[in-house]
Amino acid sequence: MRKFQVKWAHPRVWSGYINRFLREGHTFRRLLAEMEDHQKWTAQQLREWQEQRLQEILIEACRFVPYYERLFKELRLDPERSNPREVLEAVPLLDKETLRKAPEQFLSKRAKKWLIRRAYSSGTTGTPLVCFRDIYSINYEHAMIWRQWRWSGYEMGEPRVTLRGELIVPTTQSEPPYWLFSPADNQLLMSSYHLSAATLPIYVEVIRQFAPAAIEGYPSSVYLIARAFEDLGMAPFPVKGVFTSSETVLEYQRETIERVFQCRIFDLYGNTERTAALGSCEHGRYHEFPDYAIVEYVPTGDNEFEVVGTPLFNKSFILLRYRTGDTVRLSAEDRCPCGREFRIIDAIQGRKESYVWTPDGRAVGRLDHIFKGVKHVVESQIVQETLDCVRILVVPDQEFSEADADIIKRNARERLGPGIEISVERVANIPRTGRGKFVAVLSKINSGDAFPEISHMTPS
Ligand SMILES: [Zn+2]
Repeated sequence: MRKFQVKWAHPRVWSGYINRFLREGHTFRRLLAEMEDHQKWTAQQLREWQEQRLQEILIEACRFVPYYERLFKELRLDPERSNPREVLEAVPLLDKETLRKAPEQFLSKRAKKWLIRRAYSSGTTGTPLVCFRDIYSINYEHAMIWRQWRWSGYEMGEPRVTLRGELIVPTTQSEPPYWLFSPADNQLLMSSYHLSAATLPIYVEVIRQFAPAAIEGYPSSVYLIARAFEDLGMAPFPVKGVFTSSETVLEYQRETIERVFQCRIFDLYGNTERTAALGSCEHGRYHEFPDYAIVEYVPTGDNEFEVVGTPLFNKSFILLRYRTGDTVRLSAEDRCPCGREFRIIDAIQGRKESYVWTPDGRAVGRLDHIFKGVKHVVESQIVQETLDCVRILVVPDQEFSEADADIIKRNARERLGPGIEISVERVANIPRTGRGKFVAVLSKINSGDAFPEISHMTPS
């Protein structure tokens, strides 16, 4: 039996305790209890609660946030005497560029600067975006995450494996251990940067010995582990829940993960700016979290909407009607078997970078469907080099054949049309981004003004 010894000299072991101290105090416990209560509320109760919170945020913005002080004066908005929803409607949508240029303009003059944490969004192009978080908002975020995790039956203190973008061991290290035990959270942190055909059997063995109650991570990383369980001929390995975030979950990833770990995926959609949260429940539906943000859905195509969010919990850094750039399809269902009166979202389409643009001006999303029915692909990435050239990179397994390549090509042709050159190339691995994220579609034509706005898009 392998022992998971604690490396007390490792700084991550100590920062685990510090983070826990910051995030899981009595404020966190109170917020979690309140949020769990909100699940029993009616839609009407939730709307009323939102309005109260919104009014507080608007008044704070009007008095102490430089960007909104000016804007409210210009537009003659008075949040103290008007209906908060009407005030919000009069505020123009806020885009990423405006925030990127002057993030301090959104910081409240009352915020205690020494208690503010900075966060940077990775962004695929240009300079990173800076956001500010106060301690209360960090607690709030953490409570929101835990409410969803508890839907799986997973409880605090139970062992959990984590496979995210944290650099646990240097990428140059070529010998195990590719993991670190964090006693603060009874958590086995495993590197997403060392997953390969050679190391996956070791990961599988270590996970079996650690016996987690839940697995948390990028869907692409958890998928590779799940696939390895099957490739090695292992029996299914039941856990209470798999918690994913940061990447769009692809259909083939979901199927394999849920089959191997015998549980639901609880996926969370959010962003670094923390302006909206959507999460999937024990019945597999995505829900909007109404106590996190007021979310608006701005039409961009045929049942396709951009997520625009007004967060309700960070008075130190206020963003109103923030355009996330991510699109969703709304559901016709108005009741989920889980009973929560949180709006149901049919599917998260992802970022505008995850589309392939065709010469006839179409934006084609959710291209993971071209791999449906193709068996021998370990991973893949679609790279759009130019408007008329797409390369499909595949990491093949041993049984991959020309016939598989032909199916992929035919499926891609069906969706992208005739005016585009399509090639299928075999590669040893798919490179990750700086933060270890997997990108299913990499578009090299989406920089600068040439990139068509999603609102001008013709539905595909
Ligand atoms: Zn539900």
